[in-house]
Amino acid sequence: MTIRLPSELVAAGLAPPDKLAHLARVAERYAIAITPAIAGLIDRGDPSDPIARQFLPNIAELTVTSDERADPIGDHAHSPVEGIVHRYPDRVLLKLVNVCAVYCRFCFRREMVGPGKQALSAQQCDAALSYIAAHPEIWEVILTGGDPLVLSARRLGDVIKRIAAIGHVKIVRLHTRLPVVAPEKITSALVRALKAPGATTYVALHANHPRELTAAARAACARIVDAGIPMVSQSVLLRGVNDDAQTLEALMRAFVECRIKPYYLHHADLAPGTSHFRASIAEGQGLVRALRGRLSGLAQPTYVLDIPGGYGKVPAGPQYIDMCGEAGAVVEDIAGAKHRY
Ligand code: SF4
Repeated sequence: MTIRLPSELVAAGLAPPDKLAHLARVAERYAIAITPAIAGLIDRGDPSDPIARQFLPNIAELTVTSDERADPIGDHAHSPVEGIVHRYPDRVLLKLVNVCAVYCRFCFRREMVGPGKQALSAQQCDAALSYIAAHPEIWEVILTGGDPLVLSARRLGDVIKRIAAIGHVKIVRLHTRLPVVAPEKITSALVRALKAPGATTYVALHANHPRELTAAARAACARIVDAGIPMVSQSVLLRGVNDDAQTLEALMRAFVECRIKPYYLHHADLAPGTSHFRASIAEGQGLVRALRGRLSGLAQPTYVLDIPGGYGKVPAGPQYIDMCGEAGAVVEDIAGAKHRY
């Protein structure tokens, strides 16, 4: 059973009884959900366990800094119809559901997801698909939310078939945490539902620590990849979870071993009550520089920053080339030595 109440956290030995009042205050503000797979991964004897840090509520979530905002990446500014975010010309987000199997304490959409947050109605889904059909520049539809894989295979398959039938849509991408947090839910019926004639499906897996890629999670990913669906990864740089080169290296290697191409390492967004998770951009650049020296190109993620306010995502560095105008460029190698080009 998924743990959803502070009292259940205490009963499961995931929080001490004297923290119950604190947990209840956080739970009033932000949803809790910890699946059996994640509860089983948490090291109850380690107060700084990186899995616990991602999923157990913390009183620090009630501290909101002046730069944090409810809609950190500006979804609302680019939402022409309910459920659609059209930020870049060739692709849209389609948010079918606003619930997840777990609630990550650093979630960038934490003000929009949680139990009771509305899913798209049948009429709203029709309107969203009509919007996509009416915009021939849309090449890719990204199903996100919430976690679209919490939908039934029948419902998800129906929507994917309808999207793939739109002639100009060639790619359907699904963003999910399910293979890691509830691997048993990646059934053959669900995997079959992800593919439809007319478009190519990609699955982007969100995971932040190598321990999340358990044998069961790896088997769930293998069911997806074996069905001919390419996978990419998304991770968030999180203080106390993966803000060291060794952990990031192990995570990226684990992805590649699972046939998941490392894709994005996100700088943590300015979501409310998440400052205890954010590293600095300089720290992120230093970590990515360290990865460059440790990992093959196959295992390199792109470190990205979503510009607050909805201005889109940009690579966050580091830079290796310093342009010198007519004189050419100075290029820095992995060891930090400079070379004129
Ligand atoms: S699974 Fe994604 S959308 Fe859901 S709580 Fe975690 S980060 Fe947020």
